[in-house]
Amino acid sequence: MSAMQIVADKARCEGLGMCESMANDYFEVDEDEELVTVLDANPPEADRAHVFAAVQACPVLALTLEG
Ligand code: SF4
Repeated sequence: MSAMQIVADKARCEGLGMCESMANDYFEVDEDEELVTVLDANPPEADRAHVFAAVQACPVLALTLEG
């Protein structure tokens, strides 16, 4: 079983904050820089649905979940 990895395309991110509002334990948005920081790029399997919902919430498709 491969580990999950959150990948954020910072060139796409517009700092809209949907990911943070869905999962503020994994995403933090700097509103001045309009840029997301991934707090933990390798979530445990138990958090897959929680993280995936946040990844899917990004309106500019800047987030992907690999693995
Ligand atoms: S939802 Fe997308 S655009 Fe908004 S802060 Fe998160 S990664 Fe960036």
